[in-house]
Amino acid sequence: MFKKILVSNRGEIAVRIMKTCRRMAIRTAAAYSDVDAQSLHRTQADEALYLGRAKSQESYLRMERILELALSSHCEAIHPGYGFLSENADFARLTQEAGLVFIGPSPSAITTLGDKVASKNLAREAGVPVVPGSTLPLSRPEDVVSVAEQIGTPILLKPVHGGGGKGMRIVSRMEEVEQAVTASQREARKAFGNDQVFVERYIPNPRHVEVQVLADHHGNIIHLGERECSIQRRYQKIIEETPSTAVEDSLRREMGRMACLLAREAGYTNAGTVEFILDRDGKFYFLEMNTRLQVEHPVTEMVTSLDLVELQIRIASGEPLPLKQQDVTFRGWAIEVRVCAEDPERGFVPSTGMITRYYEPRGPCIRVDSGIEAGSIVSSYYDSLLAKVVAWGNDREEARTTLIDGLNGYHIEGVKTNVSFANAVLMHPAFVKGDLSTGFIEEHFPGGQGKLKPPAPCLHFMALAATLVYHNRQNLVRASLRPMAAQVGGVSPSKPRYEYVVQGGDEALELKLQQADPASRNWEVWVDGHLYHVTTPQFEFYRRRLKLEIDGKFHRFLLQYSGNFIWATFSGIGRTFEIYTPLEWRLTRFVPTPLKEKATDNFLPCPMPGIIVDVQVQAGERVYRGQPLVIIESMKMESGVASPYDAVVEKVLVQKGQTVDTGETLLVFKHSRSRTV
Ligand code: ADP
Repeated sequence: MFKKILVSNRGEIAVRIMKTCRRMAIRTAAAYSDVDAQSLHRTQADEALYLGRAKSQESYLRMERILELALSSHCEAIHPGYGFLSENADFARLTQEAGLVFIGPSPSAITTLGDKVASKNLAREAGVPVVPGSTLPLSRPEDVVSVAEQIGTPILLKPVHGGGGKGMRIVSRMEEVEQAVTASQREARKAFGNDQVFVERYIPNPRHVEVQVLADHHGNIIHLGERECSIQRRYQKIIEETPSTAVEDSLRREMGRMACLLAREAGYTNAGTVEFILDRDGKFYFLEMNTRLQVEHPVTEMVTSLDLVELQIRIASGEPLPLKQQDVTFRGWAIEVRVCAEDPERGFVPSTGMITRYYEPRGPCIRVDSGIEAGSIVSSYYDSLLAKVVAWGNDREEARTTLIDGLNGYHIEGVKTNVSFANAVLMHPAFVKGDLSTGFIEEHFPGGQGKLKPPAPCLHFMALAATLVYHNRQNLVRASLRPMAAQVGGVSPSKPRYEYVVQGGDEALELKLQQADPASRNWEVWVDGHLYHVTTPQFEFYRRRLKLEIDGKFHRFLLQYSGNFIWATFSGIGRTFEIYTPLEWRLTRFVPTPLKEKATDNFLPCPMPGIIVDVQVQAGERVYRGQPLVIIESMKMESGVASPYDAVVEKVLVQKGQTVDTGETLLVFKHSRSRTV
């Protein structure tokens, strides 16, 4: 077995790999860039090696430098994690040539499977079902048209060397093909340095179901069942689970058999994932094989009780697989949520900054794989994945409710995250039913909006939690102002009763609180006349997470307050509550609201932190509402900043290559015409 491994990655996956190494008594070396000098992955390793500057090209993608460091620190193997160099055949080859072990498949398997057309042809030869489409890479629009005529529209255009959904285009009409090919090629050239595309039939409303395989150097290949990854936004997975609600035993066996066949045909070794799409009739088609550890591997680990990183390391060191297909057993259900630094309220723009407060949920059936801690810096240089929360249950419902509860107890301050949005998805009736497809988010959360009207009990629960905390704080303040009175105790009635009016969004709720006695933790709470029996914790220990027992069941809340405003989050829904006594409430109704200041919006503010990749206008140019003016890259995604109205540009204040922050002025307009909202 190896004595020391270099982990050439960062974030949660580097930390997760190191955890297994520690258990196997293998020493680890972390490689880190400038911005990661204080990062969790660096401090978790036995040794830390400096790679270079923040930009991936100058650090995590520097093959020669990584190999030099591995050799000089006497590592015997390199674990590439996912992303970065994990699917780079040259890196795998150079690693081998340097006399080190690459923990992953052979360079030739990576090359064949990394080419989407070649891998499909390989699948076809192995007898694995493949979506009808082109068998050669195409670059001329007319060739695309002729394939499209054979297979029929709608078609999906994909870059041959693509990934992450970049450059993919759905085309439903023949006359749109030419334009789509040009756009797809332009994006592919920029992202992958190669503009070849191919075409396949677009399968409407499919599910994304993938199969985990393991293959050793002794000819043994097994599969570990499927993962359903249909909950995606812009082709990026958000929630994954195993088993899939659409896969029965016989289908699982068949998909597993096909995945193993393909792995054998490709001469595959180590851990890999064969991705399929499953249509509404239960027919599945090969999409691609990912030649690395997947982000969502923990769900498989939770139901099989196997450690995939350990198996990867054992396979790479030459050991045979310790189990056969018939030894693989599946127990229960597991669901994972990817926690990303992004703001669902503002179109999921990346969010960066320092983590100022951080508490992870804990529990016997909850697993958190995280790359952050309080004090961590989330920069715009790398992708936005911060952590993964995974829950296990005997059945799907148990896993789902445990996960929601876990997410309610996950407290991250300093950057915005998608935690509430993920929770809203988990709570959606269609998700509860297991009725999933890759179009789920678009169908149920149009525009990706997570703003749901909270169901009545949720709103009541949130109002109740906010009011109890507010009430307790007021009491503490009162007691500290009147220490003598508090000591005497004296006049308070045995069952004190308090009233509040709570404004949350458009709704005002009436709350009545009654305590069994002044020291009791048991309350009767009426929210708009509904009675709830609530047990509170010792409020002195209250931080920002609150666990209340309501009518015999525990519920977790996240709360933040300032004055009589309390921000409460529960089950994916966040609301600000304003809390008043009935007298204060009546008074506030008569205070005139201040006039809104006139908007001074003749400048274009930067909506997110990142790097300017293109400025598409010059001073003096006339621009139109909705026209993209500046392109910003942040966390590996490009977004255009559009003009908010028709105007003339007076001055451009930024240039290509420059880093920018949220709120910075990008350009100034001469005069703005009527602004439509
Ligand atoms: P990438 O490597 O860029 O992620 P994939 O080929 O893995 O691209 O596809 C990504 C996602 O696009 C899939 O999970 C699925 O949601 C969707 N998709 C891919 N191919 C098809 C198809 N033929 N029909 C419908 N949806 C598809």
